[in-house]
Amino acid sequence: MRSLLTWLMFSHLLIAEERYEFERPLMGTLFRIQTHATSRQVAQKAVDAAFAEAEAINEVASDYIADSELLDLSKKPAGQPVAVSPRLFSLIEQARAMAQITDGAFDPTLGPLTKLWRESRRRQQLPSEDVLKLARCASGYQRLNCDRNNSTITLQVSGMRLDLGGIAKGQAADAMLAVFFRHNLQSTSITAGGDVRLGAPPPGQKGWTVGVRTFDRHTDSETLVLSHCAVSTSGDLQQAIEINGTRYAHIIDPQTGLGLTRSVAATVIAPTAAQSDALATACCVLPQQKARELIKTIPGCSFHLPEMRE
Ligand code: ADP
Ligand code: MG
Repeated sequence: MRSLLTWLMFSHLLIAEERYEFERPLMGTLFRIQTHATSRQVAQKAVDAAFAEAEAINEVASDYIADSELLDLSKKPAGQPVAVSPRLFSLIEQARAMAQITDGAFDPTLGPLTKLWRESRRRQQLPSEDVLKLARCASGYQRLNCDRNNSTITLQVSGMRLDLGGIAKGQAADAMLAVFFRHNLQSTSITAGGDVRLGAPPPGQKGWTVGVRTFDRHTDSETLVLSHCAVSTSGDLQQAIEINGTRYAHIIDPQTGLGLTRSVAATVIAPTAAQSDALATACCVLPQQKARELIKTIPGCSFHLPEMRE
């Protein structure tokens, strides 16, 4: 009897955790989850809850979904505080904070300009000077107000449009990892395109191996072993348009209002993926030296930049 009891008490230690992998397309990219659990069913429960959370974030924050809460907000008259859902408020508040930290290199109010970039891609033509000027006047994070007490957002200038594309995948990965933690699955890694959010290391290992791909689409330029943090890579590798012989990346240079024309890539490690996602985008915009200096000032962050290709 006693040996049976002892066996029952320790049997959970004998059930080895295995690694399970799941994938789903979302937010224009592929989300990949790796988690360690005692069974696929246990993992699947957390996976379903995590994807439900990411889908909820996408629904409120996408600027591709015509009636998303984010786009509705941009349609409201300027200067009027608008009450928004907790999910959207948290995203915009974090985006606003990242804009402040990066002095506008990352700026979620560049929506009018990212919209023009997409039009340029469709028409294979750059916007006229006038159109570009109007769009630039309608952006600027200093004129985006977040009121935490009332959960309201105010866009202070007419024509302002928010684009959270540079932070939403990271924020979704953070929210998904939180779901796994609530399911007590600590050894989990969430990859959302170029953004990776890591929980505890896989059992018996030092960390998760993260391959960083920057200028070369097929080979990792660097391999990192990490846990309890986030890693994001941004650059012009994945998306750029070519007009009259010039490449314009999908990352907007707030100075010109157009896509970056330099060949750029930056990888940032940060405590959360919302931070690393926004910072990697900002580090592409900033000159290399400024990017390094900025990252040094932010607790828990480090910066990896491959050799620049001319
Ligand atoms: P990806 O989304 O391809 O991983 P990023 O994280 O660098 O790349 O985000 C790029 C997206 O962010 C663009 O598609 C656009 O929606 C938005 N964006 C472009 N330039 C900026 C910028 N300077 N600041 C904030 N968001 C930007
Ligand atoms: Mg980003």
